[in-house]
This record gives sequence, C-alpha cells and structure tokens, in this order.
Amino acid sequence: MNISKTLKSFKGGVHPKEFKFLTEEKSFEILPTPKEIFIPINQNLGKPPKILVKKGDEVKCGDLIAEADGFISSPIHSSVSGKVIKISKEINVNGFPVQTIIIQSNENEENNFLPKLNLENVTAEEIINRVKEAGIVGLGGASFPTHVKITPQKDKPIDLVLINACECEPYLTRDYRLILEKTNELINGLKLIMKALNVRKGIIGIEDNKPLAIEKLNNVIKNFEEIEVKVVKTKYPQGAEKMLIKAITGREVPPKKLPFDVGVAIQNVATAISIYEAVVEGIPMITSTLTVSGLGINEPKNLIVKNGTPLKNIIEFCGGIREDSVKIVVGGPMMGVSQFDLNVPVMKATSGILVLTKDEVNSFNETNCLRCGMCVDVCPLNLIPTRLARFSQLERYEDANLFGITNCMECGTCAFTCPANIQLVQWIKLGKQKVIQMLNQKSAQLN
Ligand code: SF4
Ligand code: SF4
Repeated sequence: MNISKTLKSFKGGVHPKEFKFLTEEKSFEILPTPKEIFIPINQNLGKPPKILVKKGDEVKCGDLIAEADGFISSPIHSSVSGKVIKISKEINVNGFPVQTIIIQSNENEENNFLPKLNLENVTAEEIINRVKEAGIVGLGGASFPTHVKITPQKDKPIDLVLINACECEPYLTRDYRLILEKTNELINGLKLIMKALNVRKGIIGIEDNKPLAIEKLNNVIKNFEEIEVKVVKTKYPQGAEKMLIKAITGREVPPKKLPFDVGVAIQNVATAISIYEAVVEGIPMITSTLTVSGLGINEPKNLIVKNGTPLKNIIEFCGGIREDSVKIVVGGPMMGVSQFDLNVPVMKATSGILVLTKDEVNSFNETNCLRCGMCVDVCPLNLIPTRLARFSQLERYEDANLFGITNCMECGTCAFTCPANIQLVQWIKLGKQKVIQMLNQKSAQLN
C-alpha cells in the first residue's frame, strides 16, 4: 500500500520545487551583534506599541523600549545593550516608512531579562501574562499578538491545540531545524499553551517530507498521552491554518471565521518555542530565527539574529550574493516580499531571506488570460482568482467583495499555476485593501 496516498490533505494546492536541501542540514548559527540595530515599532498585527525611550537613553538587552497600547498590541524590547541614537521613520521589509528605534550597541552585552517561572507550577494566568509581557507574536507570518490567541474565550470553547509544523513554503527550513534542535522546548511550549487554554489534547501537524523530524518528535512524545504527531501530505499551502485544521480534524473554518470558532487554537513551531523561552527562561522576543537560502547566496544558513538586524549584515555573514542573482525576498518565495534596499531590518516574524537567480524566478512575460481555469482548480479556498484580479484591475470593488476577495489568504497558489503569468496575487492584494477600506468607510458612515 502506498502510505502517502492515505495521508490527509485539502482540495487544490500545488507542488513547487522545494529547494529545502540547501539548508535542511544546516544547524543554527548565531549572527554576531551588529554595531547598529534598527527596531521598527510596528511588529504586530493590531495597534503599534508606544515608544518609551528617547535619543541618548542607555538600554540593556531585554529592556522594554515600547509598551503595548491596548489588548491587541505587543511590547518591544531592546535586542542589544547600547545607546538610543535616533528615533525616526525608516522603511521596513514591507516597503513602508515606520517609526524605528535605532540603537548603537556596546560591547557590554548586558541582559535585563524577565524572572524565570517554574515549568511545572506556573499557572494559566501567569503564562498568558508572561507571553504578553515578553512581546510574543505569531511567527508563522501573521504577527498576531500571541497572548490574545492563548486567552480562553467563554463563548468559544477550545478542545485542541494544534502546532503547525508544516513549513510548506519552499526553501525555508527554520521550523524543521527548530524541531530537530529544540524538540523539548517545542513540546513544553505546546504544554504551556494547553495549560493556558485548559485544553487536554495537543497535536503536531507535519508534512511527510520531514521524516527525521517526525521520528524525533515521536520519540519525545511517547511518554505524553495527550500529545500526538499527525503526518499530512506535502502540498502547498498545507501550512495555511484553515488547510491544516481541515486535514487534521476534518473541521472547516468558514469564511470570515477563525480557528477559535471551530474549537482549535493553532500556533507555529517557532512561536511555541518562544513561549517556552519567555516563561521558563524569562527571555523576551528579541531574536529571530530564520533561513537564508536560494541559489544566489554563497553560503546558505539557518541563523539566530537580533531583532532589528539589517539584511546587509546577514547577507554578508552568509558570504554575499552571487553575480547572477536577480531577486531578494523576505519570507518564502510564494508569500514573501521582494526587497529593494538591504538596509531594512529583520523583524520578529521574519522567517527567511532568499537570494534568487534567474533560474529560480518566473521571468516570462504576462499574456492575456487563456481562460484555462487552472487558477480556480488550485485555489484551496474555492475562490475565482482570475475574476477577483480582473475586478481589481477594473476597480469594481463591490463585485470583488461579492466574490469574496477579503477571504483570500494571499497564498500565491493561483499565480504560481497561471500559464499566462498574470500577477494574480498582486491584483488581488490591491483589490482586497481597497475593499477593506470601502467596507470601513461604509461602517464609519453607519455609525
Ligand atoms: S492567493 Fe487567494 S485567490 Fe489565489 S489561490 Fe491563494 S487564496 Fe486563492
Ligand atoms: S490560470 Fe491564468 S490563464 Fe488560466 S484562467 Fe486563471 S488567470 Fe486565466
């Protein structure tokens, strides 16, 4: 019997070349602390935090430099010890100017971390407060403040904590290496989330292209009845929350609803490990773990870097870029953002930096839509990407809304498959922003 045929998955999706071989055997290395760190304030979905420091202030590594402004907001801590030399608007990895605290590091490497809490005795309330205090955000890409996702809601009972260990984006091996190198921290992070939410069942969902990680996890969890490893088929975007929940539990998260609405709390591997480190070791979110890969980088690596490190320092540490490189992307190749300035800094949720050559990027010209329907066949959310993109081009935002443009998760599957090379996701993203603005204006008028 072919076991892979029996594995669970979802309708649609694609199989891009993985390129994981470039870094999957590379253990984490620590990047030396840069001389200057650029910490953008907007690192969470929701309200940005309020800056607490000013030019000339001395800070230690772990000091609070911006405090949360409301429930859906996350604090920021200094990732180095040194002096604040400037606070100004600087371009971030998404291409927007945002308030940024620039710190010149000194050689003292002085830390000011949070008190350590006891893994066995810590209470649910202490876990939630610590996750908030440590500034933890979701590291799967969304950067949603994690304390919100581990706070129980009376009207939405949760019966399962699901760890998303799929890492379905090509090239990226950060989560894979974390599973291998920090297995106990991951399992304990999962147990802490289960305790915070008072949930008895934990599942780690992982794609079948990671046999070593599956074996390691199965070895560690054999003494924990409440935790299970479930293997799913390797297919993009299997790591999208809704796709993984469907494959593992059979539950469908309806459009405009969240995992909480179907009784599931889902967290990424790196986030669960950060929770463990914040609670048990008292370390706030001051570093990013990421993969630097692509055929255009001389020495692909997995790295631990300080939050706010400029891309140029990281690329230099990885031996620089090859002459035939044509594109630099932050994130994975399917959902990542192209970069034009290597001075921009990594943020908490930066999972990868890719330097790609001509052979790795689609450089064919766009042609007219062939009406082949392939984008419709592969969309995991049953949307009609060709129509959504067209509505966006024609500025028909009411129609785009009717056809569910705001449900698009921007996974890039449709664009990947399009034989006419139409920039479907770019158009859909733009249309989605316009529709959200339109809906916000309408609701403001009603109020
Ligand atoms: S980007 Fe949006 S429309 Fe395209 S496949 Fe993904 S969910 Fe569907
Ligand atoms: S895949 Fe491309 S060419 Fe085919 S229908 Fe969709 S947009 Fe048109």
